[in-house]
Amino acid sequence: MEASLQTDLRYLKGVGEKRASLYAKLGLFTLEDLLRHYPRNYIDHSAPFPISAAPFGENCAVRARVVSKSGEQRIRKGLSLFKVLVTDGSADLYLTFFNARYTVSALKTEEEYLFYGRMGGKFTRREMASPLVISPEGEEAFSPVYPLTEGLTSRSVGANIRQALSLLEGRIPETLPPALRERFGLCGLEEALRCVHLPPSAGALEQARRRLIFEELFVLALALTRLKQHSGQTTGAPMRPAELSGFERLLPFSLTGAQRRAIGECFADLAGPRPMNRLVQGDVGSGKTMVAAAAVWFAAQNGYQSALMVPTEILAEQHFSTLSRLFEGSGLKVALLTGSVRAAQRELLLRELRQGDISLLIGTHALIQSGVDFHRLGLVVTDEQHRFGVSQRTALSQKGEAPHVLVLSATPIPRTLAFIIYGDLDISVIDELPAGRKSIKTYLIDPPKRQRACGFIRKYLDEGYQAYIVCPLVEQGEETAPGLLAAQEYAEQLSAREFAGYRVGLLHGRMKGAEKDSVMARFASGEIQLLVATTVIEVGVDVPNAVVMMIENAERFGLSQLHQLRGRVGRGEAQSHCILVSETPSPRLRAICRTNDGFAIAEEDLKLRGPGDFFGTRQHGLPRLKIADMAGDMELVRTTQDAAAWLLREDPELSAPENRALGGQVLQMLQKVTTG
Ligand code: ADP
Ligand code: MG
Repeated sequence: MEASLQTDLRYLKGVGEKRASLYAKLGLFTLEDLLRHYPRNYIDHSAPFPISAAPFGENCAVRARVVSKSGEQRIRKGLSLFKVLVTDGSADLYLTFFNARYTVSALKTEEEYLFYGRMGGKFTRREMASPLVISPEGEEAFSPVYPLTEGLTSRSVGANIRQALSLLEGRIPETLPPALRERFGLCGLEEALRCVHLPPSAGALEQARRRLIFEELFVLALALTRLKQHSGQTTGAPMRPAELSGFERLLPFSLTGAQRRAIGECFADLAGPRPMNRLVQGDVGSGKTMVAAAAVWFAAQNGYQSALMVPTEILAEQHFSTLSRLFEGSGLKVALLTGSVRAAQRELLLRELRQGDISLLIGTHALIQSGVDFHRLGLVVTDEQHRFGVSQRTALSQKGEAPHVLVLSATPIPRTLAFIIYGDLDISVIDELPAGRKSIKTYLIDPPKRQRACGFIRKYLDEGYQAYIVCPLVEQGEETAPGLLAAQEYAEQLSAREFAGYRVGLLHGRMKGAEKDSVMARFASGEIQLLVATTVIEVGVDVPNAVVMMIENAERFGLSQLHQLRGRVGRGEAQSHCILVSETPSPRLRAICRTNDGFAIAEEDLKLRGPGDFFGTRQHGLPRLKIADMAGDMELVRTTQDAAAWLLREDPELSAPENRALGGQVLQMLQKVTTG
């Protein structure tokens, strides 16, 4: 039998049942899976550190000569220790190896090796535990470091990959059509795979990575476009136009220009022949809820029900109270379904839903459970969608017949990226805040100034306002970084000291839904003056009387997340303030003090961290990508989009022979996208 990409891994020398089961844990079964298991990092042999200059606490490579080796020391049963002293002339380095008799015995005194590991010890005695050992005569300039599971090493994975590459030499089918590769200057797949695993030079590695990142983003772009085309068949919920003024009569204020535009785009979609598939992106406080409300109203005028799904119970309650007030007297009945709705009430609610008495059902993912059946579901809205994947959106949509879909997102994403991440959606942007909104003043302070900041907060509490203090973690010991403040203990400390005599509340993600809701209700009613919380308050909470927020360990949050957090204040008439506390003031944190424009902040984030970061986090609900999170610049990302558009113009169905392989990749990606 000749090996092919689909050949089972056990075909390789040294891969028996045991090793195969380790690979299975990583989701690797075939030679192709293995070759697509890309290194997460590389050890650069060409530039080792002098031992005396290697940074403490960091992984580094040093080139050193073996001076002496200790014998085996048995620490306890099953654990033996070896010590090796090495030097490079600049300093000595003490290596320790555990259970590594073979590795240590292979080291020859007076020979030079590369050692790679975390530099430890102190200036007078540098140490490295369990370093990776690399013979310097190896032909590659870099050794790959692989994502592993217990029982596998980068060396053993590397050996299997080398064998796979040589077995398949000349037999790895190209996935990208030649014209495309030529047009965008991309190397072949086989060469790319070889170079990404065994890079002969930094330049070759760069070329290989470029090709593979390109391929992945390109396939993703094609898959999302396909999704858009397919979801774009005929709508199961045809609607007739309605006048916006009918909706506006319900509002206590007039719509902003941006809201009006977004609503106009929704109305046009809703009255069109295909299901709406639209993302409304807008900064916190820009009034996205009203856009959703308008669409719900439009559907109701046409006799259709709507569902609004949100990620938390708090947010569900809040929307319920806003929207039931808004629709009071308009004939639209609004209902709330969360995990904490009791059985009897739930029964009644579900019956009304089936009969079509309820026009809008608001809830958490309780909405996608079986037993929740609509009479005539025409519109599905999800709020703060970066918490939901395409699959959950789809599950809700399946409760209707190709209903219209509207997605609200408060995470402003630069247009170029939004196009990729939400490639299956049309996009409306709300880039204007309601009139009279004062922008939030943001300051960055170091921990010694915290006392003064607390005084500042007390002043506001004394005037009858409310405030938030946000910490990254729930309770002490959850993570060991020193100086990290934990909400639980911190709340106790604050109410005993800085805020003694004030009404302090605590809110965190480990609390039960009912408990959380009662804390939020007490904060909303003003009973709690100061709320100490983790990021659970991030989404949607609306208490206009809260005007100051202090965020501890601000460096732990992403810029966009900080921006979302601070959007909890600045919701009323009064000037609001946000105080960021950090021991490590960075340009990122300074940037967020300068602007209140979420899109500008997202652009800044993109510039500082590169697009890979957006693909690396799972916030956007895309499938885990294998290599795109290494994308270092937007240029490449843009190029893949252009390439996808170009190819689809040339061959919309990807049916030309040279595009067939690509078609297969796109199908696989589609499967991943839709099953989350
Ligand atoms: P977000 O976009 O963050 O979801 P919301 O929809 O919660 O924003 O709106 C924030 C606040 O602004 C709410 O209290 C809402 O009633 C109010 N609001 C929305 N649109 C307008 C408007 N056009 N004029 C005045 N206030 C508005
Ligand atoms: Mg909102």
